[in-house]
Amino acid sequence: MEIAIIAHDGKKAEMVQFLNEQKAFLKKNEITLVSTGTTGNKVELAGFKVTKFLSGPLGGDAQIAARAAEGKCDMVIFFRDPLEKHPHEPDIFMLMRICDVYDVPLATNPATASMLFKGLIVSQLRPSELNK
Ligand code: PGA
Repeated sequence: MEIAIIAHDGKKAEMVQFLNEQKAFLKKNEITLVSTGTTGNKVELAGFKVTKFLSGPLGGDAQIAARAAEGKCDMVIFFRDPLEKHPHEPDIFMLMRICDVYDVPLATNPATASMLFKGLIVSQLRPSELNK
């Protein structure tokens, strides 16, 4: 299962903390992490293996949206910072729209992300199999 992780600058520490809390789950379920560039750097420094794409403002969110559209990405965890302005806001909305178009689970804060993970534990299924 591939999970994309993205965190705005004000939320990167929360992303690392969230992943640390979910370390056992990620390992047990052989989750592949992909991320935007700077988020990936931070997560790597914390000891996680992650495939990094471009930085968000340089097209990383768009790359992850493309993976979601192609059915390669099973879930997106995107800790957005609602108190900051972002030059790539169109890309951010595009990624969220693509998740809705293709019914890809999208969590934009840690509480929702941990509920999604709990749902995966209960169901033992990939999100794309939940409606079948
Ligand atoms: P970053 O991108 O991980 O490269 O900081 C995140 C974003 O702002 O979309």
